[in-house]
Amino acid sequence: MSDGVMDGLEVTACERCPTLVECRSRIVNGVGPADADLLFVGEAPGQYEDEQGEPFVGRSGDVLDDGLRDAGLDRGDVRISNCVRCRPPDNRDPTDEELANCRGYLETEIDRIDPEVVVTLGKVPAEHLLERDVGVTNEAGDVVEAEIGGERRRVLVCVHPAATLYDPSQRDTFASTLERAAEFTDETSGQSRIGDF
Ligand code: URA
Repeated sequence: MSDGVMDGLEVTACERCPTLVECRSRIVNGVGPADADLLFVGEAPGQYEDEQGEPFVGRSGDVLDDGLRDAGLDRGDVRISNCVRCRPPDNRDPTDEELANCRGYLETEIDRIDPEVVVTLGKVPAEHLLERDVGVTNEAGDVVEAEIGGERRRVLVCVHPAATLYDPSQRDTFASTLERAAEFTDETSGQSRIGDF
């Protein structure tokens, strides 16, 4: 990658998307253990993520944290990342070109984490990783196989946490999908369910 530098799981420099380079305060890398069973993938950083340098720390992050806790999981035990690591202007969706520019970083992260399941949060990551149209509300909770970076991976489709804020009928779907995700955690790998204590 001549114009991007990845050190372990962190992209430390990248200038591939001129609009995003201009808009961002920083590159927002994934957070969480390198041996996590669950890897959550969102769309792109928003304002708070851009300010704090961590995915899902704004309102969507609160919804995600609450949902994880209700499913017996702790944010600190899962890996959380995004399809695109720099904030798009006005929180618009990332373009196909921006998604493509960042794809290799995400594939490397998935490869190195080697999770039991990749959980897509919303339509953008679901369609990006499954490479097809996805009706997220209908498919939420489905575990499907996809080839990502040359490997067969399990992908669990989930609605975006923010969807539960503007459409309360999505709350149950979100909650049951996280319950499904929790079934993929393995106590022997060190990732414990809060309910165990
Ligand atoms: N929404 C996303 O998709 N990703 C974030 O990091 C925050 C909000």
